[in-house]
Amino acid sequence: MSDAAFASRITELNDALPRAGAYVLYWMQNSQRTRCNHALEYAIGRANELRVPALVCFAVTPDYPDASERHYRFMIEGLADVAAGLKRRGVAFVVRFGDPPAVALDVGRDASLIVCDRGYLRHLRQWRFDVARTARCPVVEVETDLAVPVEAASSKREYAARTIRPRIHRRLAEHLVMPDQIDPDHLLDPVPAGVDVGDVDAVIGRVSADVYPGPVSRFFRGGESAAWSRFERFRDSALERYEEQRSEPASGVASGLSPYLHFGQISDLEIAIELGAHEFVAGLEQGKGRMSNQPGSVGMRTDSATLASSRDAFLEELLVRRGLAFNYVWYTPNYDRYEALPDWARGTLDDHRGDERPACYTQEQLEAARTHDEYWNAAMTEMKVTGSMQNYMRMYWGKKILEWSKSPEHGFETTLALNNRFFVDGRDPNSYANVGWIYGLHDRPWTERDVFGKVRYMNAKGLERKFDMAAYRLKVDELTRRE
Ligand SMILES: Cc1cc2nc3c(=O)[nH]c(=O)nc-3n(C[C@H](O)[C@H](O)[C@H](O)COP(=O)(O)OP(=O)(O)OC[C@H]3O[C@@H](n4cnc5c(N)ncnc54)[C@H](O)[C@@H]3O)c2cc1C
Repeated sequence: MSDAAFASRITELNDALPRAGAYVLYWMQNSQRTRCNHALEYAIGRANELRVPALVCFAVTPDYPDASERHYRFMIEGLADVAAGLKRRGVAFVVRFGDPPAVALDVGRDASLIVCDRGYLRHLRQWRFDVARTARCPVVEVETDLAVPVEAASSKREYAARTIRPRIHRRLAEHLVMPDQIDPDHLLDPVPAGVDVGDVDAVIGRVSADVYPGPVSRFFRGGESAAWSRFERFRDSALERYEEQRSEPASGVASGLSPYLHFGQISDLEIAIELGAHEFVAGLEQGKGRMSNQPGSVGMRTDSATLASSRDAFLEELLVRRGLAFNYVWYTPNYDRYEALPDWARGTLDDHRGDERPACYTQEQLEAARTHDEYWNAAMTEMKVTGSMQNYMRMYWGKKILEWSKSPEHGFETTLALNNRFFVDGRDPNSYANVGWIYGLHDRPWTERDVFGKVRYMNAKGLERKFDMAAYRLKVDELTRRE
């Protein structure tokens, strides 16, 4: 535990005095995995020092904001993997229904110490605050969802990828360290009573979530093992084409890891290390800016320059773009509000609020994928059927909602509502930062035009010029037919 990078992930959330307890509790919330989980290893390590067992608990909130069966099923499938992983390691695990702080405090009644992982959204931070304020023992937060933690990269809200990139790159080398996996010295017996997450249907039956939109297990099955299978498939068969084809809507050349990252079922740090981020850093230190051909990367098949360059492009998304989104929500209390957008963007959209719109649709019409634009309809259909959408189409999809809404504020709210309802990876820092990007966040002013003002514009002709849009529509049609 002496490693400085690890230590920088640890925050004491209260000043309660140490107390003799029966176990150390890890209240798992954001980081739902047993691999590369600093909070879990910290809890087991401290339990060994205190000569008590470690206990892990998870609270299933029956009414999580915006969550439907689509999200719950993915999460419960993941918790079944956590249960199996902890059992293999001899660590007790209890799952209960209820308000997370109440569950953590109840299960932590006899704890010497409560450890939690970090949550970035407002309500997740509040939950931790509530536990820390009420607990009778020390509460310690351990960050484990960003390779370079937010504060290590920057102490303020960053303007754009170009401003945070050098900061993340600078701190990357020291943070590319896997936490040691620690064996527990003591076992908790008996384990407190809880819910059996192995029976996914029974657990789903007890949550009061909307049944619509329904599960998408055919496309995204939750859990650490599914996450790693997906990662390996991507690394071995698509990564090499990532830089060149990632934006092509029908290519399928992307990792599909965002739902797993969202639920903490896989760690960006472990992915980066597996892909040879050490060589990437070595390239940076040699002043190459981006990696060129560095043979022998961990877990990679060839030493081709294309592969290295694609790997770098992927690390840019995983570490820099994602890091920027986390930076945004961490340093912006009202990250989910239109008012949080940059002044220039709100100003220019305001100047054009009276402009005639080419079309105006309600949220219901949009949700039904019934607009005059077949590409947009295909994107909305992809989202509804699969719980995801190709990255470039997400941009187009969002830009058109801005254009077809009666006001920018209304467009912003509609986009966020659809995003968080239908995407398995919705309600993530990435959701808020990227919907904000549609409205000018982390971007710069462009040529002024109707409705958008100086906010970046996109149109169907641009899609047709760059991509095979017939192939994309066909792909989505096939998905619908298989429904
Ligand atoms: C309007 C709009 C809404 C979006 N909503 C979400 C959302 O709700 N949840 C979400 O996770 N992402 C969102 N994104 C960002 C991005 O589109 C997805 O992360 C990506 O498409 C997920 O697919 P993937 O895992 O195959 O990505 P890959 O291309 O394989 O990238 C790997 C990882 O890098 C990160 N990443 C990739 N692109 C971005 C980006 N633009 N910004 C930040 N991180 C990125 C993600 O964690 C992703 O899983 C949105 C983008 C837009 C334009």
